[in-house]
Amino acid sequence: MPTEELRQDSDRYLMNTYARLPISIVRGRGCCVYDLEGREYLDFVAGIAVNTLGHCHPDVVAAIQKQAQHLLHASNLYYTEPQVRLAQALVDHSFADKVFFCNSGAEANEAAIKLARRYAHQHHGPDRSEIITMRQSFHGRTLATLTATGQEKVQAGFEPLVPGFTYVPFNDLPAVEKVMTDRTAAVMLEPIQGEGGVHVADRTYLKSLRELCRQRDVLLMFDEIQTGMGRTGTLFAYEQLGIEPDVMTLAKGLGGGVPIGACLATDTVAASFTPGSHASTFGGNPLACAAALAVLHVLLEGRALEQGRRMGDYLAKGLLDCQERLPIVKEVRGLGLLQGMELTIDGKPVVTDCLSRGLLINCTMDRVLRFVPPLIITQREIDRLLDTLSQVLGKRV
Ligand SMILES: *Cc1c(COP(=O)(O)O)cnc(C)c1O
Repeated sequence: MPTEELRQDSDRYLMNTYARLPISIVRGRGCCVYDLEGREYLDFVAGIAVNTLGHCHPDVVAAIQKQAQHLLHASNLYYTEPQVRLAQALVDHSFADKVFFCNSGAEANEAAIKLARRYAHQHHGPDRSEIITMRQSFHGRTLATLTATGQEKVQAGFEPLVPGFTYVPFNDLPAVEKVMTDRTAAVMLEPIQGEGGVHVADRTYLKSLRELCRQRDVLLMFDEIQTGMGRTGTLFAYEQLGIEPDVMTLAKGLGGGVPIGACLATDTVAASFTPGSHASTFGGNPLACAAALAVLHVLLEGRALEQGRRMGDYLAKGLLDCQERLPIVKEVRGLGLLQGMELTIDGKPVVTDCLSRGLLINCTMDRVLRFVPPLIITQREIDRLLDTLSQVLGKRV
């Protein structure tokens, strides 16, 4: 079926929630995807930071095939081994002691928000329920998580929003001190704002925020849905930022392309959930957990983390070099393989131009080009990105 026909049927049968680019992807391998006509695209989007090990990594495919032959789903009424082993692996390699599994980022943040409220109610009474989040943040599209998201464009038309959220500017400690009261249950933030334009949290800010939260028994919750699973060069971004949160959420890269989310917490905090507090039919499903376990094994035992770290440095250097040469590049920001390039012009035509040259990149907040390739990206592939980008941006100077 040609793309045009698919587009028409898409318009006819799907709700109009996405502005899609005019290709239909049928196959992926490593850092490339292929469209219906067989054209190859170098993929610096990776399903928006999802395909951490590239497309169809053999270990992940094998784990899915093997698990599918035994058991796809069983329900959380029973024990299943992949879920327990995945939780164990995440606990072994993070600050956390306990894990709750769900199916997406928004659901992971919903779990974190519920956990924070329950913890605060149990330890400090029913008046403690407020959550402080950051402006330009992104936490998901369910009612509670779009309320947590500090962007009016995400919230517009969906009022009334969930009560109990307060917003402060990112990287601004006095702003948090000013709004934190006895009613504050938690502060939730992304260590690097991804959708919000790739803004990295300052280490000194995070250190002070950590101390402030500790003094008041306010939970510090990190949304690492985009920054987790090796994206920034370590398994989790907090490892490089000098502090540990009380709660952390994961999704995107966790399943290497299979939908799965997780909310991780310390024992003290996790104890506020008891049977009946929270649940998910598909959460921690054996298929998704088997895929995630395979991803984690490759990250921890292979050289993917190290490769990602080296390639992150190489990409950042190349982008900074573009900035020096091209006046329409305003700033380059990021950590590891989560890099953003802010332009002085609209980024959408740049994305379309790159697409027509066989390169997938993403644009967020109108002017910020975002690069989130698989961690297995090579120097040669990064060179190809930089060449194409220089051509496309160069003709706009
Ligand atoms: C993508 C994202 C989410 C939402 O995840 P979904 O799986 O789309 O619900 C939440 N927080 C951050 C930081 C994200 O990048």
